[in-house]
Amino acid sequence: MFDWLFGKRRRLFEQTPSEKESQLLNQGLWQARFLSAKHRDHLLRWSRVFIAEKNWEGCNGMQITETVQWSVAASAGLLVLAYPDWYYDKTQTILVYPTPYVAEVTDRGSLLTMNSTYLGGEYVRAGETIYRGPVILNWEGMSAGSSSSNGGQHLGFHEFAHQLDMINGPIADGLPPLPAGVGEEDWRTAFHREFEHAKQVVASGRQIWIDHYGLTSESEFFAVSTEAFFQEPHAFAQYHPNVYELLLLFYQIDMQSIV
Ligand SMILES: [Zn+2]
Repeated sequence: MFDWLFGKRRRLFEQTPSEKESQLLNQGLWQARFLSAKHRDHLLRWSRVFIAEKNWEGCNGMQITETVQWSVAASAGLLVLAYPDWYYDKTQTILVYPTPYVAEVTDRGSLLTMNSTYLGGEYVRAGETIYRGPVILNWEGMSAGSSSSNGGQHLGFHEFAHQLDMINGPIADGLPPLPAGVGEEDWRTAFHREFEHAKQVVASGRQIWIDHYGLTSESEFFAVSTEAFFQEPHAFAQYHPNVYELLLLFYQIDMQSIV
């Protein structure tokens, strides 16, 4: 089965990117224009494979167009440029709503939501991620981050960062699988220290640069910091230099030198 999958994947990947795909990538990911030719070529091929391999479902009347698929795929792919063989294999389905949506409160385990607002028995959600389950997004939120830096926010980066966090286990703890040579305990200790420091700053009445939603847990700190790392790398590195350096060890792409 895996030979078949990887043969199909390889054939799809090997096709030369078309002009149309290039335009769709530019529309779906504003950073794409600034990538090196090598990274850009890889991301075009990678996104084509990702789109073909996932099940796409529009919810509440949402139409899944190529524009939607490329925007989602490119955001997932930018995060794993340093890991060319990673295709988020634990995620088979992408659900897209037109706008933030109402979700019933259920116990689905390892559920991570974004901007969940409680409204009389129901939660309004921007997106969510389920371990070995779907990534759920809303197009209004996705497209805001696809076309501009959007104040450092990007729904796709957020939810796919949670998926990366859960590669090494069902518990999202803010620790993704680190590359060889990066000590896991050192990284975890430093990341935990930065998380606690950010909480103390806010508790003492001062400001932090990233969205306060990141202080909910270390997994949210990782996801929110990932958004800022790729969307507003200069400001993020200025105000949270240690977190920037830690994420750089994992993502291995210095966004400050790109955008
Ligand atoms: Zn989250």
